[in-house]
Amino acid sequence: MNWLARLKKQIVPDGEPTKPTKPMFSDPEGGFVGSVGSVLAPIQKAGGDTAAANDGDPDPDGGHHSHSEGMNGRETDTFTARLARFTDKGLDLDAGERLAIKLVMRDREQDDRRLCLECTHLGGAGAWRCTNWRQAGIAIRASDAQLPGELVRTLQHCDGFRAAT
Ligand code: SF4
Repeated sequence: MNWLARLKKQIVPDGEPTKPTKPMFSDPEGGFVGSVGSVLAPIQKAGGDTAAANDGDPDPDGGHHSHSEGMNGRETDTFTARLARFTDKGLDLDAGERLAIKLVMRDREQDDRRLCLECTHLGGAGAWRCTNWRQAGIAIRASDAQLPGELVRTLQHCDGFRAAT
C-alpha cells in the first residue's frame, strides 16, 4: 500500500474516534482537534490552590481527569514533549499545538493509531521521508520514500512504526 492509498484509507469522514459531537473549531490540516479551552485550562490557570482546607482530597482519583476537564500533570508533560518534537520536525507552533491537543484526546480514547511525527523513522523536518519505508510499505525504493505533510499529520496504523519518545 503506497502512502496515497494509506492516506485515503485513514481519512474517514464519519466515525472518527477523536471527533466529538459538537466541534468547536476545525484543524486547517483536516483533522478535528476538539475543545482547546477546556484542555488547556490547567496551563492557562494562574494563581494558587483554591481548594478550601476542609474540602478533603481535591483529587480523589489520583490525577485522572475526564474529557470535560483540563490536562493532568502527566498529560501536560506529554503535551509539552510532543510539542517540542513537532516543532523540531518542522511544524509551526500553532500546528504543533493543535496536533498535541488532538493526541491528548486520542490517548484518552485509547485510540491505538499513531502519527508519523511520533515515529523514530520519520526523517527530515518540514520535508519528510520514511527511513523505514520497506517495513512501512510506503515505497519500493528509498528514493520514493518521501511523505506528504497530510500523511505525516494523519493518525494511522503502520507496521514500521516505532515510538520516538
Ligand atoms: S515507519 Fe514511521 S515514519 Fe514511516 S510511514 Fe510508518 S509511522 Fe510513518
